[in-house]
Amino acid sequence: MPSQFECFQDGCNFMVRADSDEEVVHLVREHAQFTHDITLDADTIEEEIERV
Ligand SMILES: [Zn+2]
Repeated sequence: MPSQFECFQDGCNFMVRADSDEEVVHLVREHAQFTHDITLDADTIEEEIERV
């Protein structure tokens, strides 16, 4: 079951979908770091992951 994450930062329409939570967490952390200059921990990301 794929996992999906939509960025919750204002004005950002980044969305990622992958086959595992680990992959989503990895991609979201890179996005947050480079695009928003913030560091998200894995727990925060996992709470926002949707199963699609
Ligand atoms: Zn974003």
